[in-house]
Amino acid sequence: MVLGAGVAGHTAASFARRWLDRGDSVTVVSPKPDYNWVPSNIWVGVGLLKPEKVTFALAPVYERAGIEFVQAAAREFHPEGDGEDRTPYVTAENANGKRSKIPYDFLINATGPALRFDKTEGLGPDGGHSLSVCQPAHAAQAAAALDDEVERMRRGEKRRFLVGMGHGTCTCEGAAFEYIVNLEFELRHRGVRDRAELTWITNEYELGDFGMGGMQLRGGGYVTPSSIYSASLFAERRIDWITRAHVSRVEPDRVLYETLDGLQGEQGFDFAMLLPPFSGVGLQAFDRGGAEITERLFLPNGFMRVDADYSPRPYEQWKAADWPRTYQSPEYRNVFAAGIAFAPPHAISVPRKSPNGTVIAPAPPRTGMPSAMIGKAVARSVVDMIAGADAPTRTASMAEMGAACIASAGANPFKGTAVSMTVFPIVPDFERYPEHGRDPAGTFGEIGLAGHWIKIMLHHMFLYKARLRPGWRWIPE
Ligand SMILES: Cc1cc2nc3c(=O)[nH]c(=O)nc-3n(C[C@H](O)[C@H](O)[C@H](O)COP(=O)(O)OP(=O)(O)OC[C@H]3O[C@@H](n4cnc5c(N)ncnc54)[C@H](O)[C@@H]3O)c2cc1C
Repeated sequence: MVLGAGVAGHTAASFARRWLDRGDSVTVVSPKPDYNWVPSNIWVGVGLLKPEKVTFALAPVYERAGIEFVQAAAREFHPEGDGEDRTPYVTAENANGKRSKIPYDFLINATGPALRFDKTEGLGPDGGHSLSVCQPAHAAQAAAALDDEVERMRRGEKRRFLVGMGHGTCTCEGAAFEYIVNLEFELRHRGVRDRAELTWITNEYELGDFGMGGMQLRGGGYVTPSSIYSASLFAERRIDWITRAHVSRVEPDRVLYETLDGLQGEQGFDFAMLLPPFSGVGLQAFDRGGAEITERLFLPNGFMRVDADYSPRPYEQWKAADWPRTYQSPEYRNVFAAGIAFAPPHAISVPRKSPNGTVIAPAPPRTGMPSAMIGKAVARSVVDMIAGADAPTRTASMAEMGAACIASAGANPFKGTAVSMTVFPIVPDFERYPEHGRDPAGTFGEIGLAGHWIKIMLHHMFLYKARLRPGWRWIPE
């Protein structure tokens, strides 16, 4: 059973179905009827794509593949069953609030993040004063708001745009970064850039940290820190920035924020796209006597404990080896987590607090490529364990794998650009690479039109793959 039909869960379920015997069943439990290729929500948010271009219905795809689909949200794990009946099961709730018990032999939790707009007063599109691009519907709302702003600027008004992180502990800075540079490009394209003031607000200590402690990017004969890279991109595009900030309140036309030095600030806006912090989706767990054991399976932030070293220790003492390799629960050998659902053992960026005790530091990101690679590795381990292996057979440590990311910086087939980046490893390993924690030969970055073409290609390829069209499995994660 796989919980969640996002990048990690959908990959895990598709490969498990392919590798398992027909006598075995694969069930996906997920609350939404559609798959969403989340990275392309950025283009929905600037009005270049409609939501239906980044989503498709899961039920027909799963029916064709022989995967059972239960459209419901998982709520509780019962990994020991109930009383005398030792069959493990999950309780799931459908859209009408009806709960059902779904038994499993092996469970992969790939439920991704809960979007915690509630952590900042006034944050978010549902009852708050800011927009989001985390979901297709949010992104479509942002695109409609952008159209209104453009109309006003065409009538001669000056408008203020604020983009970034809506809380001091956010992750996913890269997504908001892509949004602001696409927004800037789109305003230029629509001929109103001179009437727009763009500001980036972030919890990063330096620009270009991205929750990964920054990067030293090789390219064009130089090694450039990502802080300089990002500052240069913003300077060229006349985007102002506020770093080291925790947004504490969003009002209809301004945000209030605190900075790492303890000062309070405010920034006015007419249009704000601010990402929320993430937590786990709030799953609970119970033993066979009905006693709650949630804290044995999950950290307080709701992400699932796996084979990482979670022992508390100062930031300076963490090691690459602390990061999980198999994603198996230490409590139950038949339970795994993949993608954003697993709990990272510690921050990658230096954790920092203001004099008032407010945490202002990015949480570690788990981007698309590692999420899919982890989903695939976990599926293989489960398939091998079903075939008789005692323990997981595959590993996918983020401290041992590299990742590639193409960050769109403006979408146009002739004038567009994207930053093509690779890092190796994702989590720095200072024992292997004492200077910067990463291999300079595998950590690369370059901006240009070719990157945009690759980004377009990836959009189509990954949606093709997710639709499980012929040859899907040959398309890499
Ligand atoms: C706007 C944006 C742009 C991004 N751009 C990029 C990019 O360019 N490149 C990149 O590498 N990464 C990008 N990312 C990150 C990437 O989207 C994530 O790494 C990836 O989606 C994580 O996969 P996941 O499966 O862990 O979570 P998700 O893809 O979020 O999937 C989680 C799934 O679990 C389901 N679910 C939720 N609650 C429950 C429940 N209770 N029970 C069962 N199922 C549940 C959800 O409906 C969903 O199907 C971006 C993220 C955002 C928000």
